Amino acid sequence: MKTLKYYFLSIIFISVAVSAQENEIEEVKTGHINNNKFKQLYDEFSTPNMYRAASGAPGSSYYQQQADYKMDIVLDDKNARISGFETITYTNNSPDELKYLWVQLDQNKRAKDSKSPLIEGSGVRPVMRPGEFAAKFMKTPLERGFNIQQVSDSNGKSLSYTINRTMMRVELPKPMASGDKFSFSIKWWYNINNHVDEDGRSGYEFFEKDGNRAYVIAQFFPRMAVYSDVEGWQNSQFWGRDEFALPFGDYEVDITVPADHILDGTGVLVNRKEVFSKEMMQRYESAKRSYDKPVIIVSQDEAEEAEKGFSEKTKTWKFRAENVRDFGFATSRKFILDMMAVKIGGKDVMAVSLYPKEGNPLWEEWSTKAVASTLESYSRMTFDYPYHKAISVHAKSQGMEYPMICWNYGRPKEDGTYSDRVKYGMMGVIIHEVGHNFFPMIVNSDERQWTWMDEGLNTFVQYVAEQDFGKKYPDALSPQHENFPSDRGPAKLIVPYMGGNQDFIAPIMTKGLNTYQFGNNAYGKPATALNILRETVMGKDLFDYAFKEYSRRWMFKHPTPEDFFRTMEDASAFDLDWFWRGWFYTTDWVDIGVKDIKKFYVSSEPNTFIKDMAKERGANLKSLPPLVYMVEEGSEDFKDNMKTSTLFENSVPVKEYIMDNFTPEEQKTIKSPNFFYNITFEKPGGLVMPIIVEYTYADGTKKTETYPAQIWRFNDNEVTKAIASEKEIINVIVDPKLETADIDTSNNSWPKEVKENDFEKFKNKVKG
Ligand SMILES: [Zn+2]
Repeated sequence: MKTLKYYFLSIIFISVAVSAQENEIEEVKTGHINNNKFKQLYDEFSTPNMYRAASGAPGSSYYQQQADYKMDIVLDDKNARISGFETITYTNNSPDELKYLWVQLDQNKRAKDSKSPLIEGSGVRPVMRPGEFAAKFMKTPLERGFNIQQVSDSNGKSLSYTINRTMMRVELPKPMASGDKFSFSIKWWYNINNHVDEDGRSGYEFFEKDGNRAYVIAQFFPRMAVYSDVEGWQNSQFWGRDEFALPFGDYEVDITVPADHILDGTGVLVNRKEVFSKEMMQRYESAKRSYDKPVIIVSQDEAEEAEKGFSEKTKTWKFRAENVRDFGFATSRKFILDMMAVKIGGKDVMAVSLYPKEGNPLWEEWSTKAVASTLESYSRMTFDYPYHKAISVHAKSQGMEYPMICWNYGRPKEDGTYSDRVKYGMMGVIIHEVGHNFFPMIVNSDERQWTWMDEGLNTFVQYVAEQDFGKKYPDALSPQHENFPSDRGPAKLIVPYMGGNQDFIAPIMTKGLNTYQFGNNAYGKPATALNILRETVMGKDLFDYAFKEYSRRWMFKHPTPEDFFRTMEDASAFDLDWFWRGWFYTTDWVDIGVKDIKKFYVSSEPNTFIKDMAKERGANLKSLPPLVYMVEEGSEDFKDNMKTSTLFENSVPVKEYIMDNFTPEEQKTIKSPNFFYNITFEKPGGLVMPIIVEYTYADGTKKTETYPAQIWRFNDNEVTKAIASEKEIINVIVDPKLETADIDTSNNSWPKEVKENDFEKFKNKVKG
């Protein structure tokens, strides 16, 4: 008798378990892509080696090349022409022998025979401004691009070279062995472009009213390409949009400009006393001690006076920079100059701004403060800013970064008034471009290949820094704003892009030149992904530790995407392969909803399920031991009194089991759920993400539960959770704070017909 009874029982449990397993297998088959979503990133990653460790840190034999520059630069302001003589000393730290060197000639993007205009396939636009029309159809190309006059070794002997558009291959007299140094010189000149009319991230703006130019000069000298363990020579052509890959080095740069110009650039100004007036020196000394507000070094009155001069004399400004990957400078007689000090890691750093009067009053009020605040925020998120200064230069329509110096837009109208858009745009771009000192100027990723590694990481920290800035300077905000209105970072702002037309979306892991919707792809989406990772998936502590670890490991080095992905996992014990795979390697979007909720009660009476099974197997129901039966509300087994009875009243076997197996002390702490739910979540979106659920109970209280993304590992379409609750659940909302970039929230709540407003009213009634 006993044996038979337990035989039947074990069959029940086995068949219940088997049918659950079959369901699972069935689900895996139908959710055919779900295996891939949690598959480890082995095929996509290169194998770790002695150069790059599996942890994501530089490997035991990590190396990088060094390129040191000595340059004499002369700016011919009258003819808008720049010329230079530079000596590059290249150190081969690689284990490889090099037969030739590759040098980047970015200015050739503007040469008459440039192929850049030829790859634009935009066709005839229905409406154009006359300037655009003339530029597209009427202008003959201007004389632009490098004129290379000489390439020679240190004895002045010519070296043979070949120019392939924006790249120049210099033949070495004999191959460089590992550890060798080789010095060579290049003499060059080019006509500077007007960056307002001709476009470009370097050039001059011409001010018709006073006849002056303001120069922001970069990509202006032949620069060494990167040679590395991952790319060999990174000599991919410069087409215009894709940015740069550059080795670190030390720079000695002497720049000769008209004597009435005010100039600043990358590096320490070593002859300040020769180029600053006595008055400027005094003001500079007081700026070094001013930590709360900028000190004006060259005033607007002085700049306006200088605008009229057009000096025939020249001055030479001498800069020395160590361990930088590039050099840029800005110069004009129109420049106003201010500075303030900011303490970073116990050291003083100078925050500097250069702007023509056209930038005021906005610029003298906010530029330098934004620079200082940015250095503080980024240093907190990464490492202490290692350079001695950071400069923000005002240049029309520019937003571009170089070591220690950047160009930024944000110009008031002629009467000095400005809109919120101009003000926040100016603050945001300064924070962004100053932030680029960290990524990619110091954490020196390959911009030409991976736009997101500098733009995405930088835009992510920019969001943090903007929020800090708004808190530090509440008077920078307009009255209607409580916080800085960041354009990128918060999850909901990326929804229109990720939910948009898939024909025009590429994975983040796409070369910058080839991506649709560049800003959303390379800036917005990676920044949002990291913000979601920080605030929702990993939590701030774990994320911040790992992000800092990445920044510190790769400071003054050349990281790859894998080094970032691996470090974030290595330092946090978070398996994030599914996250990188979904967000960075696909164009999938997030859409998770609540599909169905069923309510259950317990019962002592055999339910239909067991009755059918007993019948099928010819077993006697009376022979069963005490069991707990689950009864769905509204089903044929359901009785109204189940709703009003307690758990113990509904189920005698549960009551007896507790009484027999728990001490009176234990019984006091035991939970007693009366309500049972089967909650089915659906996932129409391709991305796997945690399910964040807010449960509202009949007494008006709420509870938020987060189910990790791995909940989707066996079924990519829908999952069901069994919930036992002491209180009745009256409302369920998925992603209540809109923190996952869910593109369709119409399926995010249950009951569906309760709209947010109605629910608020209902909730108040319950509370009242
Ligand atoms: Zn940027």
